[in-house]
Amino acid sequence: MLYKPRKTPKELIALLALEKRIAPTHPQYPLIYQEMYKMRAGFGGEQEYDRHMKEVRTDYPHAILHDLSLQQEGVYFQIDSLFIAPDAIIISEIKNRTGKIIIKANPTQFLQSMKESEPSLFRSPIDELERKRQLLERWLAQRNIMVPIQCITIFAHNNILEFSGKTEIPILTGYEAPIFFRGRETGPHLLDKRRIEKLAAALVQQDKPYPMRPLSTRFSIKKEELVKGVWCPECPEKTILYWRHQRWNCGRCSKTSLTEHETTIDEWFMLITPTITNKEFCEFTGLRDRHIAKRLLARSKVYRRGERAGSVYVPLKN
Ligand SMILES: [Zn+2]
Repeated sequence: MLYKPRKTPKELIALLALEKRIAPTHPQYPLIYQEMYKMRAGFGGEQEYDRHMKEVRTDYPHAILHDLSLQQEGVYFQIDSLFIAPDAIIISEIKNRTGKIIIKANPTQFLQSMKESEPSLFRSPIDELERKRQLLERWLAQRNIMVPIQCITIFAHNNILEFSGKTEIPILTGYEAPIFFRGRETGPHLLDKRRIEKLAAALVQQDKPYPMRPLSTRFSIKKEELVKGVWCPECPEKTILYWRHQRWNCGRCSKTSLTEHETTIDEWFMLITPTITNKEFCEFTGLRDRHIAKRLLARSKVYRRGERAGSVYVPLKN
């Protein structure tokens, strides 16, 4: 049973927002575009895996949790997908690569083979999985849960996998995953259905994504270099809404909205700084009246910190 579906990563949402607000002629644009493209492809691969995992049927109780961010002794670690069975926990690392994958044993090496080019070596996911396995083991031990943890690597795009020798851990395609979970031999049952559910709930409760720095800092972009305005959510072209008659209006498609500035505030936090003042909100949305701005901020998902002129708005914690 699915206990935690995957959501669009916040970083991808931020990269898409940044790409829309920056000129294609900006020197950082190619890098931003590349990062966005890579993340979108990675997320696409993960979604593909999740679709296969919907087909998992087992004779034993189980729980599936996609995309977990946990913390252990101050160290963040992220698990692409986690499967709780009565005898073990299986963590999956999902790889998003095209072409044929050649896996060599002793030592384990991964090569990607594309048409008409020499196979190229890429970083083995096994060391990274081992690090996550150890952290999860300590996370569980702290909660008095002693269950073996196994690791698997998944190639999301049903690549052709070519093996030479036996690998340390199972390596399979997304397509093979449901068969793997259905067919795996279970050892002694350490967790019953109730304990599996309890552990799944604890993992969901402890899921805390790594705090993201505003992207303008990461890519060294000045806020003046970003396109300002509240976007129309309906127009396919970049179109800015204007405030009139107590609502946001689109001059192109006639859409009106009372809340569209909330997306813009979210974008400000993701792209510029984790706080916003009334003046900054006016400048960024094109509002001329700070009293209107105050009213709009008061009914957005932010709260006011500080008094009078020095006050700033910060995001409400979910
Ligand atoms: Zn429009």
